[in-house]
Amino acid sequence: MSYSLDLNGNPVTNSAPKESTPVATEDRSASGANERSATVNTELASAESAEDQAPKLNWQEHKIKSGDTLSSLFREAGFNDAIMLKVIHGEGDASKLQRLYAGETIAFATDANGDLAAVDLKRSLLETLHISRNEDGFKGETVVLKPEARPAFASGVIDGSLYVAAREAGMSDRLAMEMAGIFGWDIDFVYDVRKGDRFEVVYEELYLDGEKFDTGRILSARFINRGEDNVALLYTDSHGDSDYYSPDGSSMRKAFLRTPINARVSSPFNMQRRHPVLDVVRPHEGTDYAAPPGTPIKAAGHGRVHFAGWKGGYGRTVILTHGDNITTLYAHMSRLGKGIRNGSRVKQGETIGYVGSSGMVTGPHLHYEFRKNGAPRNSRTVDLPDAKPVPKSEMARFSKFAKQQVAQLEVYRDGHQQLAMAQDRDE
Ligand SMILES: [Zn+2]
Repeated sequence: MSYSLDLNGNPVTNSAPKESTPVATEDRSASGANERSATVNTELASAESAEDQAPKLNWQEHKIKSGDTLSSLFREAGFNDAIMLKVIHGEGDASKLQRLYAGETIAFATDANGDLAAVDLKRSLLETLHISRNEDGFKGETVVLKPEARPAFASGVIDGSLYVAAREAGMSDRLAMEMAGIFGWDIDFVYDVRKGDRFEVVYEELYLDGEKFDTGRILSARFINRGEDNVALLYTDSHGDSDYYSPDGSSMRKAFLRTPINARVSSPFNMQRRHPVLDVVRPHEGTDYAAPPGTPIKAAGHGRVHFAGWKGGYGRTVILTHGDNITTLYAHMSRLGKGIRNGSRVKQGETIGYVGSSGMVTGPHLHYEFRKNGAPRNSRTVDLPDAKPVPKSEMARFSKFAKQQVAQLEVYRDGHQQLAMAQDRDE
């Protein structure tokens, strides 16, 4: 039943987590093993349904911790480096076994002869790298399960904060945060929200094998702020790009984030400032945000990298161009974001670099500039253009979609109200 019994004689008993009560350890291992063999038996049964010779495999699982290496995991499981090399030199995705991350689970299957028959690397609930032995050696295959998304509805009335109301409506904080993000371009959830404001949201609940395990995207949402109705619909255009639009096709977003970092302003835009290092009057053509080194910096808008590298006193810097008249600049980075180089495209909100203290600075911070036709503007007060609406060529397709979504939102609301009324009657 337990691994240590199955693998008697192999030096793997120390691989079991050290628990205070051996009974608990055994129980856990046993149930884990059963789950494993159940999965494998189904797979084998479907693969070799003709033969009922499916060999019985014994699985042992390890939760990967930081500091573990593939070699040490193989050794703990009772297999030497020669076997490990055979596995990672296998066909297909087998070599991907070399990329391990803490928190993932690795499982080794041993056949009746004590030989390694398969290795499973479970990267997440949805993704597993499955490596199995065949006549020629090992072969790896990445299996990605696709969860089923079912729409769900929640609604609430705000008494204190959005988060309290959302929690009472059965929403997770993450979902509430996403909703605030969708409407956050027009509504300040700290200052603008009033008692009596209402929200309705249709979102995805994700199921795997009929069991709910997470929530997905918000599909549509309505927020009534001081009597004003705001509706956002998630629309996927014919290129496959998804974004939130109001039912008339205008974007919920602005073309630029007001602040490209989650941090406080340490030095505002000021054309008369005395420079902190040079001690002469020198305009401060941007806004400084103090943040710990390594804090991610976001692209303020969709655009293209015009410059990525070292730029004198600015240190490690990224300059983005947005359309033909606006540029944004991000200075004093510790390092650039992944894939950020001259000419590459960036999406709004994408991490383009990390806070540092490169260049002429007194401490780690982001220096952020917003320029229109080359002239510096105060990014905190400048009028920001709206993001692009649904293109004209897609308007017919979008309108049909929007009508359906708004109708669906109403159906949910009515159903919800009737349910609430029925519950009131029953009480
Ligand atoms: Zn600055």
